[in-house]
Amino acid sequence: MKKKFIISLVILIVITILIGLFISSPGKTKWKNETFYIVNVSPNMQIMLKQDEYKKFKERGAECFISRMLKNFHNISTLKFELPQPPKLTFYVLKHGSEYKQMSGLPFESGMGGGDGLGTSALVVDDVWFFDDTGNGYGCDRVTIGLTHELAHIILNAYPKNNYNEAFEEGWAELVPQYLAEMEMGDEIRTNIIKTLKNDDIYELEWLMDNCMYCDEKSMVAQHRKTYISMYLWMRGYVHEIEQKYGLDKMSAFNFMMKKWSAMPKFATREEWMTAIGNIIDMSGEDVLHSKKLQLIGHKAFLSQLTAQ
Ligand SMILES: [Zn+2]
Repeated sequence: MKKKFIISLVILIVITILIGLFISSPGKTKWKNETFYIVNVSPNMQIMLKQDEYKKFKERGAECFISRMLKNFHNISTLKFELPQPPKLTFYVLKHGSEYKQMSGLPFESGMGGGDGLGTSALVVDDVWFFDDTGNGYGCDRVTIGLTHELAHIILNAYPKNNYNEAFEEGWAELVPQYLAEMEMGDEIRTNIIKTLKNDDIYELEWLMDNCMYCDEKSMVAQHRKTYISMYLWMRGYVHEIEQKYGLDKMSAFNFMMKKWSAMPKFATREEWMTAIGNIIDMSGEDVLHSKKLQLIGHKAFLSQLTAQ
């Protein structure tokens, strides 16, 4: 009897130690042959850190960055997205400078953005921003258009895609803060660019699909680039047409588009894809791709919203 008790006790102790080890040692993941520690900071947000940054994080945390991301995320969450699965925010922390540039594949040495090979399910952020965030002096509560754009990328990743092009990803991510969350009128520089936009400043969809969205005008804020504005106006025009045709408010129209697009089969040609996109709003694939019709509808909608205010 005593022997049995001792054996049970030993087994219990071993199990407790194993559970303890499991809980205290963080999970790990690999990206480009580098090992990252996984830290779950909330049920819908995780941070990936290399060993040095993980140690630093254990010592001093990154309270401002984390609270700001959760605040921006909460801001988006108040919109009524009908997502097929709950979103999970993932950030990979990279050392600013060459590591950031090399690992991310972006033409920048710091900041936040998509990471090479990570798809749209995660973002990279430089270590200076991560550890020393102050909201650019505006505080940890700051909700911004740029951050909402970046987080929108991750949230909209919940939709499956059989057809992919980066231009649409940017169009959606712009539509979320600017139109759906109604943040755009706070950006006077952008408002002036759109107000004085000439026909020649607007890119057709095909150009946007075949060229890099951020490779021109490198030094400018993404939201002020003509590539981003053109794609935004295209998307705004498209959603406007859905609102009109189906009698939907903007949020329902956005959800409608996302569901329709994600249910599309993989098309063999771009023309077939554009025809399917055009069918939803009674527009030809040719006009969707090779004209500025949707951009101009979006432009008109923007201007009438501006004068209504
Ligand atoms: Zn983007």
